[in-house]
Amino acid sequence: MPEDESRALLEALNLNAIVLEADASGNVTSVNDKFLETSKYSRDELLGQNQKVFLFSQQPQPEFDELWQNISSGNTWRGEVQNKTKDGIYYWLDTLITPVSGTDGTPHKYITVGFIITDKKQAQESLSKKILEAETLAHDLEKFKIALDGTSDHVVITDPNGIALYANQSIERVTGYSPEETIGQKVGTRELWGGNMSQEFYHSLWQLVKVDKKPFVGEITNKKKNGETYQALVSISPILTDSGELEFLVGIERDITREKQIDKSKSELISLASHQLRTPLTSIRWNAELLTTKELDVESMEFVSDMYNSTLRMIELVNALLNVSRIDLDTFSTDLQPNDIKQMVDEVLIDLKALILEHNAKISISIDSNLKTYISDKKIFKILLTNLLTNAVKYSKLNSEVLLKVGNANKGTVVGGKTVKVDSLFIVVTDSGIGIPEEQRDKIFTKMFRADNAQSKISDGSGLGLYLVKEIVAKNAGEVWFLSEKDKGSEFYIVLPADGMIANNAGTASFT
Ligand code: ADP
Repeated sequence: MPEDESRALLEALNLNAIVLEADASGNVTSVNDKFLETSKYSRDELLGQNQKVFLFSQQPQPEFDELWQNISSGNTWRGEVQNKTKDGIYYWLDTLITPVSGTDGTPHKYITVGFIITDKKQAQESLSKKILEAETLAHDLEKFKIALDGTSDHVVITDPNGIALYANQSIERVTGYSPEETIGQKVGTRELWGGNMSQEFYHSLWQLVKVDKKPFVGEITNKKKNGETYQALVSISPILTDSGELEFLVGIERDITREKQIDKSKSELISLASHQLRTPLTSIRWNAELLTTKELDVESMEFVSDMYNSTLRMIELVNALLNVSRIDLDTFSTDLQPNDIKQMVDEVLIDLKALILEHNAKISISIDSNLKTYISDKKIFKILLTNLLTNAVKYSKLNSEVLLKVGNANKGTVVGGKTVKVDSLFIVVTDSGIGIPEEQRDKIFTKMFRADNAQSKISDGSGLGLYLVKEIVAKNAGEVWFLSEKDKGSEFYIVLPADGMIANNAGTASFT
């Protein structure tokens, strides 16, 4: 090779590879600049030191011994070796060690050429890591799939447009459509089990999960492949990417048709029993009332008035049960009229006269002067007032004050800490009574729930009043909530649409 060419080759080598020379014992005799740049050591630190320290620091001793054995016998060695720079950073070299032998055949020096392959190694490593991760994920997904196929709920995962990407086995049992028939189709349409609710319902459902990216939980009527309808409790959760984009929708559906039927039968039984109880109870009440007008000895009078009061409480309970079953079964009709608000309030106060007297409560009434009438079913509106006022009086000390306020709240104004969504009528009942313990607040509107402090103050109570209030308000697109502090008092709020209650003609019964 001509000298020029050799020099060019050497230059190219020096630019691209580390070159190190060592003597017969492996002590460094020269290094090129590339090695200094790579290892971060200075030439002085390297010269005279054993090359093992700089080239094979991470090599296990037995491997190094074998390598040394190899090269000291005059063989060339090649391998990928990991090293550490002076400041502790790892790098990889594709290393070639060539022994240069003298006339006696034994090496008197070693020339090492190394190409930096750290990037390649890292890429390989991250690839193997990714493969491992993918394998673990696939394994986990398999377990997950087995678990999902075993549940009775049907699970569907869709893309952001509602096209099913996955469906578990239970889907066929619930809907009649197999996972194969489901995947690739848009869910919530007539082609599958959906499409039975109103256009507006699906519109606001999609708005919620797709645009607002919030989960939906609710009951939906769906239709099986064979045409049969069923009630489903559905939850749809949007799954977002790290940057907040909608990636998947996970829908879980449970067939609650049977539960609904059982609930309905229970309500029907309660309704029937309460109806049957009303006639004898009314008769006992009238007779007891009649007896109180007779000349009786003091002891007998006591018995009779006890009986009379118990009968009144029982009638109240039976009426509450009847009203609850009407709401639950949706078998009531409304009679909407522009009722005079003040008159309805006065009528309620007359009904509650005995209770108010018994507690010597002072009821203050404040009705917005511009508020005269409200389109409402008189009985239903009075049930709302009666329940809130009864509780305020019952759960306060004797001689306490209770405030009832009825007013207008325009859309966007804040009432009781909440922003009113539409122009509304609001009702607030404020007392300074026992309050509601913090840990029981979330159950207050549950059927038959009574807080501990209420039970110890007044042993009898049905826990049906607020449930009824909540259901009535919900049916009228309103809201009910409270603010309360234990031993300080409570404030119950109801808002209803300003343009009136919503008509219901589902049955013939009216509220009691
Ligand atoms: P009841 O009064 O028959 O127990 P309600 O359904 O009317 O049933 O009320 C449910 C529960 O809510 C009560 O038992 C009581 O624990 C609590 N509660 C309701 N109103 C008040 C109030 N004004 N002050 C304190 N607790 C109240």
